[in-house]
This record gives sequence, structure tokens and C-alpha cells, in this order.
Amino acid sequence: MSDGESFDVLIIGAGPAGSFAAERVARGGARVALFDGRPAREAKACGGGVTSKALKAWPFLLEAGGRTVGEVELMSPAGASVRLKLAEPFAIYSRRALDSHLRERARSAGAQIFDRRVSASAEKDAEGRWVVRAKGGGEWRGRVLVAADGANSAVARRLAGALPNADMEVAFGYRTPLDEADDAPTVIAFLPGWAGYAWAFPRLDHISFGIATMQDKFDHKALDRMLWDFMVKYYRAREDGGASRGKVNGVRDGADARGVEERLRLTAERYAARIPGLAPESFDRRRAAGADWALLGDAAGFADPVTGEGIYYALRSSELFAEAFLAGDVSAYEMRWRADFGRELRRASQMRRRFYGEFFGGAFTDRMIKFARVHSGVRRTLRELVAGDQGYLDLKRTLARRAFRPF
Ligand SMILES: Cc1cc2nc3c(=O)[nH]c(=O)nc-3n(C[C@H](O)[C@H](O)[C@H](O)COP(=O)(O)OP(=O)(O)OC[C@H]3O[C@@H](n4cnc5c(N)ncnc54)[C@H](O)[C@@H]3O)c2cc1C
Repeated sequence: MSDGESFDVLIIGAGPAGSFAAERVARGGARVALFDGRPAREAKACGGGVTSKALKAWPFLLEAGGRTVGEVELMSPAGASVRLKLAEPFAIYSRRALDSHLRERARSAGAQIFDRRVSASAEKDAEGRWVVRAKGGGEWRGRVLVAADGANSAVARRLAGALPNADMEVAFGYRTPLDEADDAPTVIAFLPGWAGYAWAFPRLDHISFGIATMQDKFDHKALDRMLWDFMVKYYRAREDGGASRGKVNGVRDGADARGVEERLRLTAERYAARIPGLAPESFDRRRAAGADWALLGDAAGFADPVTGEGIYYALRSSELFAEAFLAGDVSAYEMRWRADFGRELRRASQMRRRFYGEFFGGAFTDRMIKFARVHSGVRRTLRELVAGDQGYLDLKRTLARRAFRPF
């Protein structure tokens, strides 16, 4: 225990954002304290999908024991599907494995890690240092305070104000057993009537199923039924040797379905959590840095409002914060994240309703998948979108240009 010890940086939360920031800042020679109160056996609720864009930016992620995926199946609300062979694979992680890998890198770089849940005091000490305290006792001081404590960040609320409920998406799902991961398909199924999607992300020894959607239209019972049906169909298709998985809200039938359901009831572990999905105005208003504080990852609201992807932004925001800190100007992090990915996230937020909305009398996602089935240019754009290489700023232009070009 190092009560009252003083650090250059206090980082609250050792998810991807906090651990990566701790590693980078410690490597630059700073004294870093990193806090997390999550019990080791408890994983953060997450699909664990990491795009090839992130794997290219930080190749060491491949050492964290994920499962690489070279093909993704996209399903439309009406039940049409298209398989995309990815030019570069993405990876699916168990969050326990990913988080502990990043935490160990921070430790090796020299950060001191405290397995404690802490709160940041409302006042600084007489020397202007932040004070962080743990419930059961313990007090740490630091020149810079970093909130990396996730979507429900109490520290961000204190530093930058609360986000409205409308700026949050809801995600819930089940972890279910998987005997053999080799041929288990990775599926993203757009929801009929909701802004969002269901997923099946097979990891090494289990599958993460889930649904992410906007909080304002959340109907838990209907969505849970839909996800359950999707899971039953997924397992039945595996037992049938890959027969069609049908629509996400397809009808269950027969004895096979009941057998699968019974097994799922006994084995599926449920989880639920929030993902930030900021409105464009919130991106304009919200500050993520001051002279001696910063918000990273989910605590800052940095997740893609269309897909819910947050791991890339957690890592990238940490890298940008570390650069600003090591250059001696923490407040410059504000300008850096806006210039780097701020415009892209804001654009995604503007596109969210259109992406999940109507297009020429049908769901846009239906149209997109139907078109992709027959048009290689559209398939290529979707592949790049899944890989994280196709941004939203020029998505429409790219789709239009490729769709009207000969096959
Ligand atoms: C169901 C679901 C599925 C998702 N799927 C994907 C996906 O497939 N791909 C993707 O890129 N993103 C996905 N996301 C988003 C992704 O999980 C987050 O964007 C990402 O985890 C953000 O990282 P972070 O480090 O900012 O926060 P977190 O990973 O949430 O880490 C915050 C840490 O802070 C700790 N903490 C909180 N309060 C305190 C405190 N007071 N004291 C000490 N420690 C504290 C927590 O224990 C936690 O470990 C998903 C999210 C959900 C909810």
C-alpha cells in the first residue's frame, strides 16, 4: 500500500483506454498510478471485436490471444444475407484476455497498478494536486487526473458534466458455450424496426451474442425474444451443417428448436451494459481535456454511434492523450482527438438514423445487403466498412461511385 503517495498521473479505470494510456505515459518516464476495482473473474460486457484497422495500428494486439476472423456474414432485416471475405482479418477477444494483456504491458512499462475501486475527491489539495481515495482506505495524489472508467464514468461526470440518457446505447446479450471454434460463423444481423444490430462473435471457447440499440426506443422484452430466436437458429444451423440461419426474428419451430433452447437456458450467461452513442451536438459541446485532466475512451463518449465500436477509440484516444501529456500540454489533447477522429465520429452520429432508416421505401440496410449480393463494388465498400478502413465522411460518395460503375 502506498497511501498518500504522489504521482504525475492518476488513471482511473484499467480497461483498454486506461491501461494503454498508463503504458504510453510510463514509457515516457512519468510516475503513473492505475486503478481498477473489477474482480479478476468478471469480464467487461463486450463483443470483443477489434477491426483490422486497429490491428494494423497496434500489431501487438495479436499477442493478446484473440481469434482472427477472415469472413463475416451480414444479414438484412428481411433475412437476406451476404458473406464478405475480408482482405485483412479482424480479431475477436475475450475481454478478460485483452484487458489483462494490456494491463500487464502497463505494469512492465513501470505503471503502478492498484486493484482498488476509487473515487476522485471534489477538491484538490493545498498544492493543487488531485486526490483519489479508495472506500476501504487509501489515498493517492497526482498532478493530472485521467478518467478511463467507462461508459458510466463518475469521474467524467465530475470533470465534464453528465451526458443525457439519449447519448447512450444499450447492449445486452449472452455468452454461450462453443466446442469447436473453427467453423463457427461470425454474423452481424441488422434488426427489423430498430436502429442497431444483433451479433454472433465466436471466440476461442465461447460465443458472444448480443444486441446493441438506441436507448430511446429500447423494448427489452421484444429485443430479448429476437436475440433468443437468433441464437437458437444459429445453433440449429450448426447442427444442420450450416443450413440458413434465416431472419433475426424468424419463427422457432419443432423439437430441434426446443432441444437447443433447453441447452441454452442451462448454459447461457447474460450480460448488459451501456455504450456511448453521442448526438452530433454533444460532440460539439463536450470537452475531454483541461489543463490537468483528461477523459479517455468510453468515459469521453468515444464510440462509433452506428456500430458501437469503442476499443479502437479507447486505444487511439489514449495514444493522443499520452502524446499531449509527454509534450507538456495536456489541454492540447482536446485539439488532437478532434483533428484525429472527432469529425468521423460526429459524422457517424449524423448518419445513424439514416443508416438504420428508410431508403427508397425499404430499410437502407436491406437495400445495401441486397445490392451487395450482386455487386462486387458494393461488397468491397462493406468489407472496408467492417475492416474499419471505410469512414463515414465519404461512405455515401464511395457507395454511389462504386454502385454505378460496371461490375
Ligand atoms: C455489449 C457490448 C458489446 C460491445 N462490443 C464491442 C465490440 O465488439 N468492439 C468494440 O470495439 N467495442 C465494443 N463495445 C464497446 C467497448 O466495450 C468499449 O468501447 C470499450 O471497452 C471502452 O474501453 P474503456 O477502457 O474506455 O472502458 P472500459 O472497457 O469500460 O473500462 C473501464 C474500466 O474502469 C473500471 N472502473 C470503473 N469505475 C471505476 C472506479 N471508480 N475505480 C476504479 N476502476 C473503475 C472498470 O472496472 C473497467 O475495467 C461493446 C460494448 C458493449 C456494452
